[in-house]
Parts: sequence; structure tokens; C-alpha cells
Amino acid sequence: MRPVRSAGPQLDKLIRRDQLEAARASLQQSLPINGLLGLASCLVAIHSGHGTLGGVWFSASTAVNLLRLGLCRAPCPGLATPTDGTSSGETAARSIDWHLQLACLAALLSGLVWAFLPALCDGYTSGQTLFYLTVTCGITAGAVTHGTSFARIPICFITPPLLSAAGCLLAAGGFDRICLAATVLLYLTALIRSTIATEKTFRETSRLKYEATVLAEARKAAHASASALAEEMHQQATHDGLTGLLNRTGFTQRAEARMAASEAICLMLLDLDGFKLVNDVYGHTMGDRVLIEVARRIRSALPAECDIARLGGDEFAVVFERSRVIENPVALAERLIWTVTEPFDSFDAGRLGMSVGICQWPTESLTHLLSCADEALYAAKHAGRNHFRLFDDGLRRRLEMRRECERGLSQALAEGALKVWFQPIFGRDGRSVTSLEALVRWHHPVHGWVSPPDLIAAAAMAGLTESLLRFILEQVCTMLCALRSRNLDDLSVAMNVSPREMAQIPVDDIILARLQTLGLPTAMLEIEITEETALDIDAVQGKLLALSRAGIRVALDDFGNGYSSLASLRQLRADRVKIDRSLVTGLTEAEDKRELVQAVLGLGRALDLEVVAEGIETADDLATLQAMGCPFMQGFHLGRPQPAEDILRSLEDLADRPRPIHLHGSRPSF
Ligand code: C2E
Ligand code: MG
Ligand code: MG
Repeated sequence: MRPVRSAGPQLDKLIRRDQLEAARASLQQSLPINGLLGLASCLVAIHSGHGTLGGVWFSASTAVNLLRLGLCRAPCPGLATPTDGTSSGETAARSIDWHLQLACLAALLSGLVWAFLPALCDGYTSGQTLFYLTVTCGITAGAVTHGTSFARIPICFITPPLLSAAGCLLAAGGFDRICLAATVLLYLTALIRSTIATEKTFRETSRLKYEATVLAEARKAAHASASALAEEMHQQATHDGLTGLLNRTGFTQRAEARMAASEAICLMLLDLDGFKLVNDVYGHTMGDRVLIEVARRIRSALPAECDIARLGGDEFAVVFERSRVIENPVALAERLIWTVTEPFDSFDAGRLGMSVGICQWPTESLTHLLSCADEALYAAKHAGRNHFRLFDDGLRRRLEMRRECERGLSQALAEGALKVWFQPIFGRDGRSVTSLEALVRWHHPVHGWVSPPDLIAAAAMAGLTESLLRFILEQVCTMLCALRSRNLDDLSVAMNVSPREMAQIPVDDIILARLQTLGLPTAMLEIEITEETALDIDAVQGKLLALSRAGIRVALDDFGNGYSSLASLRQLRADRVKIDRSLVTGLTEAEDKRELVQAVLGLGRALDLEVVAEGIETADDLATLQAMGCPFMQGFHLGRPQPAEDILRSLEDLADRPRPIHLHGSRPSF
């Protein structure tokens, strides 16, 4: 069955094609009977002494029957070509109409031949009348029975012989014959009505058939498009639009399926080094192109058995079953790092690197596997660019420690187990304290001193970031009050605010509201942020503006450790720059460090920024920095972080005795 694409005229053409097909089939069935009845009529004619006439008549009848048979078998383009709305479809439809008309003409011709039947029986007056009348009735009834599809064909066929029969009977006269003629006419009318009615039924059946086909096709198409839509939605929900790799959802599904199938799973977390710089220097369009290229390289560097995902930003993940990948994960990680650091066409690839964290420990859940790989990635990042790290026993202990810290932090905060210590920052003379830096401290009952970055991370994991910030702010405010009450309000206190705190918490509102409540001058507070804060500049810019407008100073911490870009100095509204201790500690012996410190000092003078050198551990480094004209200094050599009471006592001593004092507090070993 051919497809139906539209109803209306198109449907009508299809019905007509069905009509022609059915008419041809039924005619081929009925023509042999027609021939046999013709032959019988001819034989009766010969027997009754009308042999010549009978032979002529039978020859004419056979010729017409052969013509009709030929027409039935003649090729019709409309039966071979779809009758759609195209021009070839129109031609095809016209050919069907043309063949139907020809069939009608041929039927009329045949009917006319049969109309001459009375000639064989002297106009229905001879003794063979009954035979010929019966034959005429039989053949016309048969034509109607067979010609159900297209009424005009049987009508053309039956009308001439029945009219001629009625005419002859009327002409012969007599009551019986006149009645018979009337009956023949009635019979003709009944046959015509019947054939018209059956054609209607045929057309209706054909229409229903096509409508059912249309409906079935529409349902099929709707089902196909619904399936395609569902497939597309699934693709979008599980894949990253930029790189075509799996996204976090898709990755979770695949990784969980792999974990269900096998116990030995390897998970790798990949993080680009220096991608922010690529974005900053070359723009986001280039950044996107780099991510696409990196994704391509990762895919081509790994066996097909690996599932690869972009988890977001410049973070990628790979998961595979160990049994399906022969290569060692370490070799894979090395290849990945190598392939990503290969030169790029459009920019200096030296700026881009990749760190990899690998976990192949059997774990009970994907979440745990991810946190183990994340721990390994964190350690790899810590080791510098282009490193990979396997999750091992050491990292497991560290992770457990972090977990326990997460669990215990809330209680520690509530019980006051957390402390804030203060480290002094000195002026150029290395004697006078100009400000203090607040540093959080926690002595865990099992794990001992917890390093502040671990503590900040644990707070984030435990959802306690804001509580921790409020606690530290409270301690800082207490210190500010203590300084004021001792007439030391020319000293300021710096409080560290991590990028996450800066981005996620209304730091500005919290700090300003607290200072206002306590009536503390904003000039006494400084916040220290790092360059990573600029990573989410949209989220932090407004807060930094509010703080600096209110008079709170901003110090850019750990300068020289990251990108150290002039853009971040401007974006982050820094008043002060703190040179990272990696550049300061041991600078007396290292010329390159001295040059870098000198450059930052020059930058400070040029941009009117205060410069603090942190990490001064020796008298030599102090002297070198003093000689270089460093205005502010901080370090264990000058003064270690100490509890609030100790530092206040030292400051009081300093105030009482106008002589240099070195503040040597206790030092937690992390
Ligand atoms: P930071 O802000 O750069 O703080 C200075 C860090 O260097 C402190 O480490 C301090 O103890 C240490 N330090 C100071 N002088 C010397 C020195 O001469 N030699 C050496 N080796 N180290 C020195 P700490 O307290 O472990 O803090 C580490 C980092 O944790 C801080 O770096 C800061 O980024 C973060 N942090 C500390 N306290 C807080 C806090 O309350 N909130 C937030 N958000 N971060 C904090
Ligand atoms: Mg700091
Ligand atoms: Mg620092």
C-alpha cells in the first residue's frame, strides 16, 4: 500500500486508482463468461438457421472482448506512480481517469454488440427468445455483480442490450410482451441503482482504508517524533553542549552503571592548569575553543572503553572498568597531561597544563569514589602544574581527617574549641606593630592542629562557611574593642576571607552590620582576599565595592603565588598587596626572588599600594627587605601568630616600654 500524505483531492485520486484496479480485475474475471455466453448464443443461432448472422455477431463480440482485455492489461502510469501533489503525480492521476473512460467506452461498445442479439432471434419473436432473453438478463446481472467499483462501466454495458430487448418486445406488441418490456426497463433501473449504490460503498470502503492508513502513518510519525524528541532531551540532559562529552548527570549514570557491573573501577578527575588565564587573555570565545580542543584530545588519548565527561568549567572526569582497559592508569594520566600540553594553533600552549587525580580504590559509592579522586586531584594541584596523583593510604588518612573535621566542626564551634590567633605586621623599622592578621586555629582532639585551609574546606563541606565567618568576625571585633580600650586604635586588624566565603555569603552586610552594632570604626578592619576571588568577579564585585566605600581596606594576599595580574589588583580594589612568602623566605640568597620582590615594591610605589612582605624567617631576610625599602613586614622572625591575650599583653608591653619587641608566640605544627 502506498503512503497517503494528505486527504481531500489527493484521497479522491487514490480512490479512483483503487476503482480502476478493481474494475480491471473484475473485468478479467467476467470476460471469459461473456465469451462463453457469446459462444452459446452463436451456437443457438447456428442451430436455429441464423448461422451467418450468429458468426458475424460472435466475431464482433470476441473482437470487442479482446479489446477490453487489451485495455485491462494496457500499462497505466497512474497505477505505477504515486498520485501525490507533484506534477508527475498529477499526470498519473489523469492517466487513471483516462483509462476509466476508455473502459467505459469499451463497455459501451460491448453493450452495443449485445444489443444486436435480438437479430439472432427475429427481435425476440422466434422460439429461441427465452434463451436469448435469459442470456441477456444473465449477462447484465453478471456485469453489475462484477462491476461494483465503477458504476459507469456496467451501466454502459447493460443499457444498450436491455433497451434493445425492451424496444424489440414493445415492437413485437401484445400484452405479455409489453409487460415483459416494462419489466426489462424496471430491471434496468434496478440494476443501475444497484451498481451506483455498490460503487458508493466501494468508494467509502476505499476511503476508510486510506484514512486508516493516514491515521496509522500519523501515529507512526508522531511516535517517531516523540521518540526523537525524547532521545534529544535525553542527549541534552546527559551531555555537555559545548564539548559533546557527558555532563555531570550523564557521567553519574554511566559511572554508577559501571560500578554496578564491576568492582574494579578507576576514576580520574582532570583539571586544567592556567585555564583562567587563557580566558582572561584571549577571551571566552577562545576559552570555549580551547575546551572543545582539550575534550577532543582527551577523547583521542583514551581507549574507547572509557567514559569521559566535562563536569563543568575546566574540570573533566574519566571512568572505566579496570578489566576492560589494559593500560595502567598512571600511563593514561601521563599521556593525558602530555596531550593537553601539546602546542595549540591559536595560542601559547605553555600557559595550559593539566592536573590529574586518580582513584582506583574499591569504594561503596560513587560519591565516595569522587571525593577520593578529588582528594588526589587536590594533592596533584598542590604539587604544581602537570602532576598526577594516585589516591593512596596517606591521602585516605587525610580525607578521613577532613571528614572527621567536617563532622566535629559544628560542635567545636558551639563549644568554643576554635580560636583566632593574631600575627603582628610591622612597619619598615621591623619594630613598630602597624596591624595584626587574624588567623583561625583549631586543635582537634584526635588529629591535633588542623591547618586553616583544611578547616575552611571542612566548613564548606559541612555547610558551616557562614557560621565560621561570623565566629572569626566576632573574635576580630573583640580584638578591635580590646585595642580601642587600650588606646591602640591606630592599629588595624586584617581578617582573611576565602574566595568561597566572598562569593557565597553576604560578607559585606555581615561585616558592616557587626561593626555598626559595636560602634567600631571601619578603618580598623582590613580584609585579605586572594586572586582566586576574581574567578567569580561578578559575585564579589558589588560586595568589595560596598566594603571599600564603607572604609574597609582590601589586601591582596599571596601575591606572586598565582597569576599576579595587574587586572586582579584593579578588579579587586586592592589597597594593599601582600607578597607571598614563597618569594620572601630566603630571598637574601636568591637573586630571582629579590628581583621579583623589587618589582612588586616598584609596582606598589607606582600604583600607590601598600606592600607587605610575608614569611620573613631570618634576620638576613629582614635586613634585605629593609634595604630594599619594603614598607611593611610579617613573619615568624618578627612575630608568630599568638592567642589574643598574649598578643594584647605584648602590645601593652610594647606601649609601656618604647623599645623594639619581638613577639614570639607558640607555633602550631600542622
Ligand atoms: P595567609 O593569609 O597568607 O596567612 C599567613 C600564613 O603564613 C599563616 O599560616 C601564618 O601562620 C603563616 N606565616 C606567617 N609568617 C610565616 C613565616 O615566617 N614562615 C612561615 N612558614 N609561615 C608564616 P596559617 O595560619 O596556617 O594560614 C594559612 C592560610 O590559611 C592563610 O594564609 C589564609 O589564607 C588561610 N587562613 C588562615 N586563617 C584564616 C581565616 O580565619 N579565614 C580564612 N578564610 N582563611 C584563613
Ligand atoms: Mg592572609
Ligand atoms: Mg598570605
